[in-house]
Amino acid sequence: MLFVSGIHGDEYAAVSVTFKWMQILKEYHSGLFHWRFAPLMNPDGLLNKKSQRTNANGVDLNRNFPTTNWNRALVDYWEVRTGKNKRRYPGPHALSEPESRWLFTEIASFRPDVVISVHAPHGIVDFDGPEKVAPKKLGNLNLKLLGTYPGSLGNYANVYGGMPVVTLELPHAGIMPSKKHIDRIWTDLVKWLRNKIEWKASEPIMQASING
Ligand SMILES: [Zn+2]
Repeated sequence: MLFVSGIHGDEYAAVSVTFKWMQILKEYHSGLFHWRFAPLMNPDGLLNKKSQRTNANGVDLNRNFPTTNWNRALVDYWEVRTGKNKRRYPGPHALSEPESRWLFTEIASFRPDVVISVHAPHGIVDFDGPEKVAPKKLGNLNLKLLGTYPGSLGNYANVYGGMPVVTLELPHAGIMPSKKHIDRIWTDLVKWLRNKIEWKASEPIMQASING
């Protein structure tokens, strides 16, 4: 399981909650899954004097992944649809940024079965993958498909890597969910991972869990 958070540097709650979940995992690791966490993908954005969505180069990292027709998407999506919104600038070309290149390489080498990505503030669960296995509800977050964006991690990892991507959209960027909600989202997520995904026995992840 590859868990990434803080791609957008102004979504503080996403980063803080991810550290809480890492703490839960440290205490109650079932050994069933092999986890990797990247809790703060965009440190420059978060640690900027005024935290910002984009990285130090002003690029929205979640639009910088190499999906098909990325160049066309740059025009159709960014120029036309967002009216050149600076917060959503996808960069000069796909994988132009060190952060997205790192994640791209990590996905290729780790080959996760599921990618989990944390954002705010829509207060929902979004899912890229086969709709029949989508989690209907994780804690107080209900499933709502927000659609795909050119260059987004969800779009890239699912369509090109064939791995489902769960996007947890917390209700607030600057306010932490209650402890109860933090715990419930995690419990439901792990339950969903156990039940809803049809693991292929031949995959390395299952070998790892069989071997303990
Ligand atoms: Zn975000």
